[in-house]
Amino acid sequence: MKLSYLMPTRIVLDEDCLFENRALLADMGNKAFIVTGRNSARINGAYDDAVRALEANGQGHVLFDRVMSNPTELCVYEAAGECRKAGCDFVLAIGGGSPMDAAKAAAVLALNDIPREKLFGRAFTKALPIAAVPTTAGTGSETTPYSVLVDTGSPDESRFPDGRGAAPGPAKRSVGSPLLFPRAAFLDAKYTFGLGRDNTVNTVIDALSHAVEGFLCVRANYLSDVLAKESIAMIMDCLDSLAAFPADPRSLSPAVREKLLLASSIAGMVISQSGTSVVHSMGYMFTLNWGTDHGRANGLLMKSFLVWCRSHEEADPSIPKRIPALCSALGMDLESFCGRLETLLGKRETAAAAEIETWGAMNMKNAANTYICPSQEEIREMFRVSVSASSSFRA
Ligand code: NAP
Ligand code: ZN
Repeated sequence: MKLSYLMPTRIVLDEDCLFENRALLADMGNKAFIVTGRNSARINGAYDDAVRALEANGQGHVLFDRVMSNPTELCVYEAAGECRKAGCDFVLAIGGGSPMDAAKAAAVLALNDIPREKLFGRAFTKALPIAAVPTTAGTGSETTPYSVLVDTGSPDESRFPDGRGAAPGPAKRSVGSPLLFPRAAFLDAKYTFGLGRDNTVNTVIDALSHAVEGFLCVRANYLSDVLAKESIAMIMDCLDSLAAFPADPRSLSPAVREKLLLASSIAGMVISQSGTSVVHSMGYMFTLNWGTDHGRANGLLMKSFLVWCRSHEEADPSIPKRIPALCSALGMDLESFCGRLETLLGKRETAAAAEIETWGAMNMKNAANTYICPSQEEIREMFRVSVSASSSFRA
């Protein structure tokens, strides 16, 4: 067996773990650049806890609270400019994947002069230290070396070196480097207690997608599989609670919230090794064109993808048999799992045939990292089955 595994983030999980473990921030520098979304970090108490921890350490801070969902490269250049101007020594990200990813890119850009059109793909050797406080249980960005941004696009098609699907315009693209692993991740489930039904469910589906897709990626390895199976089992344990989501989000059991938060971080560890599959690349089409939440976008595609994987496994003896092992981690067969997912997703969106044709022609970057690499026509068919008006998936 060949194995290589890197996950250098110190994870602490407990109530009040940010304040109790403030020593982890102490050696990151004198001044923190706190990066948040517009509102939630203040409402859920994480921002106040961060300020309290920094003040107790004798550290200063500057706040950047203008990260939108699915942050653009423009947003991170703005953040990096403010970080530099304020002379901050490290970045403290609080929020869902959007602020965490924006913070990671800002940590790079604060120390590197990278022109906008070269942000994706340019190597760099330094970044400010990063600490992360996740407030959604979904992206696992606190344990990944990626920053996923919307590249708002320019007419410069040379940025798509392989020439396929080189349509200029918004695209989801990643900056990736081991330097983007946060040094510390503070998991305190109390910040997620007020997260409403849709945000909770959609982000959980993202975490589940990371674990499931990670299990079905070319770059998966023994350790990422161990973590994927555990994360899947933890999330499946919580499905009944999610299906019966209470009218008041605060009534969802704290134990469930904590389990989901940890499962999400574990799923982040999975994709930090395995990367994601064609599902993530395809899901970006829904987010970019319809504004669909990232996790829901993956969820819409999951059934068609898994059924397609199984049919290939059954038809071709040379393909590794991953679906039976996945089902044993899920604790149920594929039909039952897809039924449970369908209940969480509710009524599906539908796309016009022309829209599906356009998306089906795009370059799906992660297709090649999927253990069975789908053809362009197969990708188009997965889109069709997932969101076409005549699809049997419709609620
Ligand atoms: P998000 O865009 O960070 O947040 C979604 C919404 O939830 C925002 O309105 C946010 O409000 C709110 N929110 C966050 N925490 C809350 C809380 N505790 N209580 C109430 N509301 C809360 O959503 P996300 O799904 O976590 O992140 C999605 C992004 O992560 C996408 O850009 C995706 O591509 C990326 N992603 C990254 C990785 C990675 O490895 N880096 C992996 C998967 C996905 P505020 O704006 O006010 O905070
Ligand atoms: Zn994701």
